[in-house]
Amino acid sequence: MRASRFFISTLKEAPSDAEIVSHQLMMRAGMIKRLGSGIYTYMPTGLRVIRKVEAIIREEMNKSGALELLMPVVQPAELWQETGRWDKMGPELMRVKDRHGREFAIQPTSEEVVTDVVRGEIKSYRQLPLNFYHIQTKFRDERRPRFGLMRGREFTMKDAYSFDRDVEGMQKSYQVMFDAYVRIFNRFGLKFRAVAADNGAIGGTGSHEFHVIASTGEDALVYCPNSDYAANMEAAEAMAIGERGAATQDMKKVPTPGKTKCESVVELLGLPLSQSVKTIALTVEKEVDGKVTKQYFMLLLRGDHELNEVKVGKVEGLSNHRFSTEAEIQEVYGTVPGYLGPVAPKQPVTIVADRTAANMADFVCGANEADFHLTGVNWGRDLPEPIVADLRNVVEGDASPDGQGVLAIERGIEVGHVFQLGTAYSKAMNATFLDENGKPAPLQMGCYGIGVTRILGAAIEQNFDDKGIVWPDALAPFQLVLCPMGMDRSEMVKEQVEKLYAELLAAGIDVIVDDRGLRPGAMFADWELIGVPHRVVIGERGLKEGNLEYQGRRESEATAVPVADLAGFIK
Ligand code: ATP
Ligand code: MG
Ligand code: MG
Ligand code: MG
Repeated sequence: MRASRFFISTLKEAPSDAEIVSHQLMMRAGMIKRLGSGIYTYMPTGLRVIRKVEAIIREEMNKSGALELLMPVVQPAELWQETGRWDKMGPELMRVKDRHGREFAIQPTSEEVVTDVVRGEIKSYRQLPLNFYHIQTKFRDERRPRFGLMRGREFTMKDAYSFDRDVEGMQKSYQVMFDAYVRIFNRFGLKFRAVAADNGAIGGTGSHEFHVIASTGEDALVYCPNSDYAANMEAAEAMAIGERGAATQDMKKVPTPGKTKCESVVELLGLPLSQSVKTIALTVEKEVDGKVTKQYFMLLLRGDHELNEVKVGKVEGLSNHRFSTEAEIQEVYGTVPGYLGPVAPKQPVTIVADRTAANMADFVCGANEADFHLTGVNWGRDLPEPIVADLRNVVEGDASPDGQGVLAIERGIEVGHVFQLGTAYSKAMNATFLDENGKPAPLQMGCYGIGVTRILGAAIEQNFDDKGIVWPDALAPFQLVLCPMGMDRSEMVKEQVEKLYAELLAAGIDVIVDDRGLRPGAMFADWELIGVPHRVVIGERGLKEGNLEYQGRRESEATAVPVADLAGFIK
C-alpha cells in the first residue's frame, strides 16, 4: 500500500465524548467514525484491523472443524416467540416491522435461526456432531452504549453453535471450541484469561468467558495464582453462595435489560441502589389457584458490614417488611417453607429450606449486576443437608475454593464467551434427531461468541503509550511502514524504497510506504498514533553507509540496520 493512495485522517485531539483510551485513540487515528450512539463507520485503517481479527478467527474455527455459513441479520419474530425470547429479552432486542406489519428482530445473536436451520436439515445421529458459525453484524440496543467499539449497539460478532447427540458429545465440542479460543487469543498476541462464568458454580465447565486483561476492564476477575482456578466475580460469588454449587444445578443467567431483579426489589422497597450495598435477592414463584405469585426475599449487606438487614417484599400488594432478627423473619415469613437466617457481620448466612416443599425450587436470584438475574438457583430441593451459604464479598486474599492458595483479583474485558446450552433451545423449538434406536431425541447444543469489533478496543486498552496505539503484529493495520526521507529529491532513496517495498511485499509483510511527502516529525507522529509496530527510515546519509534505520514501536531509539539484513531483522 502507498500512503498517498490510502486514506489517513488523524486528529490531534479526541472528541470530548471519548472517555477511555482505546476510544480516544481509535478516533484520533481515524479508524472509526461515529454515526450515532453506539453506531460507527469502520474507516479503512480500522477495517484492516477488523479483517485481520476475522481472518485469524476464521482460520482457527475452520481448523477446529466448524463450518461457516451466514445467517440473516433480520429475523422473523415467530422464531423468537418459539423460544420465548421475544418477550424475555426486553428492549435490548431491536424490533422492526415490515410493510405488512410483520415483526422482525435484528439479531443480537442467532440461536433461534441456527436451531431452525438444523431442525430442518438434521435427521440422524450420523450427521452429528456439527458446528456452524458465522461472522455477522449484531444489534443490541444497549442501555448505555459507550467506549466506542467496546460497547456498541451495532457490532460484529463471531458466533458458533454446536450440535451433538448427547451431553458427552456436547462437552467434547465445547472443549474443541475452548481450545480454538486459546489458539485465537494467543495468535492475536494479547494477554488474556479464561474464567468460569455463569454456571461456573457447577464446577466451572458449563461456561467460560475469555477476558483481555486490562486495568480499565469493566469486569473483575478472581483467580488463584497457584492453580487453574479462575472465575468472573459473579461466578466466584455464586460459588461462595452455593457452597461450590451443589445446590445450583440449573442456574442460568437471564438477561433483564434495563434492570436487575435486585434493582426492582430495591425500587419496590423504595430504597436507592447504592454501590456500597451488597444485595442478594431471591424470588420464589408460587402457584396459588392457578395464579403465579412472586415473593421476593432480599438480603442487604452494607459495605461496612455493620448494619445487616433482611428485607422481604412482595410484588403483589407491595407489602414490605423489615427484619433484624430471625424471630421476626419467621413471624412474617412462617407460611413460606424456608427462611433466611440472621446476618451477622462477615459471618456465613444459613439458608435452611424445607426439602419437601416443591415451591422452594427454582429461585430467581439477582446479584447487583445490571441487566441480569439468575434463575434456577435451587437451594434446598434434593439436597442431603441444608445449604450453608457464605454471602461475603469475594475479596483479594480470600482462600481459593480449590484450597490451593489465596485469591487475587484483576480486571478484564470480556471478548469471548463459550456456553453449554444443553437442550434449552432444541426442546423449545423441537429440534430433534433420530438416535441409534430410531427414537427422536433433542439436540445437545453449545454456543460460542467472540466480539470481533470489541477486540480492537480491548487490544488498545492493553497496548498503548503516550504517542498512541501499539498494535501487536498480528492485528496491526500495517505491519511495517517505510518512511523515505526526501524521496522527491533523492533518486537513491527513491530507488531503494521501491526495491525494499517490493522485497517486503514478496516476503509476505504487510507494508505501507509513506510517499505523502510529509516532514519527518508529522510522518512519524501519524504512524506512532496509528500504532504500526515496525518503522524503517530510508535516508541518503544512511544509504551511503549501506544502512537503514529501524525502530520498533516500543523502542525509544532507532538502530542502524544493513540494507541487506532488513527482511531478516523484521521476521
Ligand atoms: P457484556 O457482558 O459485555 O454485555 P455479553 O455477555 O452480553 O457482553 P455475549 O452475549 O456473551 O455478550 O456475546 C458474545 C461476545 O460479544 C461478548 O463476549 C463480547 O465480546 C461481544 N459483545 C457483546 N455485547 C457487545 C457490544 N455491545 N459491543 C461489542 N461487543 C459486544
Ligand atoms: Mg451484554
Ligand atoms: Mg457478559
Ligand atoms: Mg457473555
